[in-house]
Amino acid sequence: MSNQKNLTTNDTWFFGHPKGMVTLFFTEMWERMSYYGMRALLVLYMTGAVTGFNPGLGLSQIDAQAIYGIYVGFVYFMVIPGGWLADNVLGHQKAVLIGAIIIALGHFTLAMPLTETFFLGLILVVLGTGLLKGNISTIVGQLYKPGDSRVQAGYTIFYMSINIGSTLGFLICSYLGEKIGWHWGFGAAGIGMFFGVLQYLNFRHLLGEAGNKPNDMPQAQRDTYIKWSKITAGLMIVVIALGLMGIIGFEPKAFAENFAIFLTGVAFVYFSYLFLFAGLTQVEKKNLFLLLILFIGAAAFWSGFDQSASSLSIFARDYTDLSVGGFVIPIGWLQFANPVFVVIFAPIFAGIWMNLGRMNLDPSLPVKFAIGLFFMALSFAVMLYAVQLAMEVSPVGMQWLIITYLLQTWGELALSPIGLSAFAQYAPRKYIGQMFGLWFLASAIGGVLAGLLGGEALDAGLESISPVFEFMIQYYLVIGLALVAVAVFGIAKSADDAKAKAAKT
Ligand code: GLN
Repeated sequence: MSNQKNLTTNDTWFFGHPKGMVTLFFTEMWERMSYYGMRALLVLYMTGAVTGFNPGLGLSQIDAQAIYGIYVGFVYFMVIPGGWLADNVLGHQKAVLIGAIIIALGHFTLAMPLTETFFLGLILVVLGTGLLKGNISTIVGQLYKPGDSRVQAGYTIFYMSINIGSTLGFLICSYLGEKIGWHWGFGAAGIGMFFGVLQYLNFRHLLGEAGNKPNDMPQAQRDTYIKWSKITAGLMIVVIALGLMGIIGFEPKAFAENFAIFLTGVAFVYFSYLFLFAGLTQVEKKNLFLLLILFIGAAAFWSGFDQSASSLSIFARDYTDLSVGGFVIPIGWLQFANPVFVVIFAPIFAGIWMNLGRMNLDPSLPVKFAIGLFFMALSFAVMLYAVQLAMEVSPVGMQWLIITYLLQTWGELALSPIGLSAFAQYAPRKYIGQMFGLWFLASAIGGVLAGLLGGEALDAGLESISPVFEFMIQYYLVIGLALVAVAVFGIAKSADDAKAKAAKT
C-alpha cells in the first residue's frame, strides 16, 4: 500500500509524470481513435445513397445531422451517470475497463454490414464512452497529490493522447470507410479500441490506487446504490429494446430539440443544487460560479467545433476539391487539420500563457474562453467566404476548411485543455467525479446544437448555409463579449485569484 501511495505522489517516471500516465495515455489514445474515426464516417454514411458503391442509409440532411447531434450529445451526457457509478459502485479504474470493452463491442456491431444493428452499435458506444471518458479524466488528476503543480501539465499530456488518437482515427477509419466500405471503417475503430483494452489490462497495475476504489460509505448504502443501478440498467434495456423494435417512435429533429432542452434543464438543476443544497463553503461557491461561466462558454464553443463531422464534412464532400496530385483524399482526412494543429500549437499556447503569466498578464479563465469563442466566430467567417465562393464556382480549394480548422484549433487551445483542468482544480472536492460530468455536459449541449444547426445549414444546399453560419458568428461574439465583461467587472474570479491578489497587496 505504501508503495502504491508513492506511485500517486512523487513518481516522475513518465517525462516527469507518474507511471500511470502511460496507461491512461494509451487507453485514451485508442478510445479517441475509435470515437473520432467512426464519427467522421457517421454523417457521410447516413446521408450516402442507398445504392451504388458503398451504399449508405439515404437519410435526409436534417435527419442525419439530428441523429449525429443526439449521438454526440448522449456520448457526453452519459459521462454523468458513468461518473456516479464509478464514484459510488465500481471505482474509476473498473469503470474505464468495462467502458472500453462496451465501446469495442459497439464498433464491432457497427462493423456488421447490416442497417438493422446500426442504432444498437451507436447505443453501445454511447454507454461505453459514458463509463470511460469522464472517469479516465478523473484518474489523471488522482495520479497526483492534491496541490501538485504538475497536474495542469499532466492534463496537457493527456490532451496530446486525445489528438494523436483522433489523427489515427481519421487516417485509418476514413480511408477504409470511404474508399473500401463504411463497415470496414467502423471495424477498424473497433480494432483500435480492442488494442486499448489489451494495453489497459496489461498496464492497469501502473495506476496503483489512483481511482481504484469507489467512495467510502457504509455497505448498506452501497447495496442500495447497487440495487438502484441494476433497476435503472434494466429499465434502460427495456426502453432501448422497445426503441430498436420500433415500438417507441423516434423523429430525429424533434427528439434532438427536446434533448437540447432537457440537457440545459439538467445543467440548471445541477448548478442550482450545488449552489443551494450541497453545503458548499463561500470559497467553493465562488469557484462554482466561475465554472458556471466557463460552462456557458464551452457549450457555445462545442456547438461550432462539433460541426467538423457534420456541416463542414458535407461541405468538404459536396463543394470542395479533394484531389492532391491525382489522388482524391478521403473526406475525413481534412479533419486531420485539427489534431495536427493541436499537437503543433499546444506547446506554443502553453508558452504564451507562461510568458504572459511571468509578466502578470496571464488572461483570466473567462477571457481565455472568450478568446476561444472569438476564434470560433472567425473560423465561421472564413466559411462564409468559402460558401460565397462555392456559390460562384464549385468546388472550392481545401485551404478554406484547413484555415477554418486552424482557427478553431486556436480557439480550442484557449478553452478546452484549460477548461478540463479548471474543472479539476476548482470543483468542490466532494463532487470531483461529477464535475467532469458537468464539464462534459457542456460538450453534450454543444454536440446536440451542432447537429441541429448543421441540419438547418444544409437543409437547402448552399443557400441555407450562410444565414445559419451568420447567426452562429453573432452568438459566439455575444457570449464572448459577455465573458470579457464578466472578467473586466471581476464577477467571476476563482477564490485562488482573489487570494493571490490579496497576497500581492
Ligand atoms: N477534443 C476533446 C476530446 O475529444 C474535447 C471534446 C469535447 O469535450 N467536446 O476529448
